[in-house]
Amino acid sequence: MRGDRLESRNEPLWKPVPSDRSFQSDDGRFGLTIGRSELKKILRYSLAAGRLETGGILVGHYSQHHDVAFVGDVSGPPRDSKSGVTWFHRGIQGLQTWLNGLWSKDSYYLGEWHFHPGGRPAASGIDLRQIKEISEAPAYLCPEPLLIIVGGTMPASWEVAAYVSPRNCSLVELKQMDGSRTEVGRSAPIRPGSKVSSLPARTEKQKTGP
Ligand SMILES: [Zn+2]
Repeated sequence: MRGDRLESRNEPLWKPVPSDRSFQSDDGRFGLTIGRSELKKILRYSLAAGRLETGGILVGHYSQHHDVAFVGDVSGPPRDSKSGVTWFHRGIQGLQTWLNGLWSKDSYYLGEWHFHPGGRPAASGIDLRQIKEISEAPAYLCPEPLLIIVGGTMPASWEVAAYVSPRNCSLVELKQMDGSRTEVGRSAPIRPGSKVSSLPARTEKQKTGP
């Protein structure tokens, strides 16, 4: 297709080359899958942000047993977002309208992503606190929000990490899997989130490095 050729000609030289990624908690209770094109979208937003942090939200759906979240799309930074070298405040402009439209397609708010320019994709203390706040905020209807962090220098050297923040629990890092995984049923399914009347903003502010 003509569009594909155009895209590949303008495609930055990502290292590593983006591929479909699956992550899972050690106990198999939480899984996350993000496709190559959604991951590439995150990388493109990060590249565009230069030396500043950026971020957005993850939307998608859950597996039948509610143990794997599939990221179907990601947003860029809403227009009212603000960012610095080591901080990011994710705005809300336009997100609710987008989410309302997705609701009818069984796609929900799954969590957040952001970029640590020049840093590792390790969750900071502030990342931890804020994703926990989202898990506890009634407006999000999302008791187990996911967090994807990309870090590094775009496009030449990047890394990605994934986390889940179950309500009333500490942050759980999801390990990257090779190949496919088998679903493990859970007795307490995740409630789909995202039908929210007003999506609160998310602020990240770090005093030292990302
Ligand atoms: Zn962070």
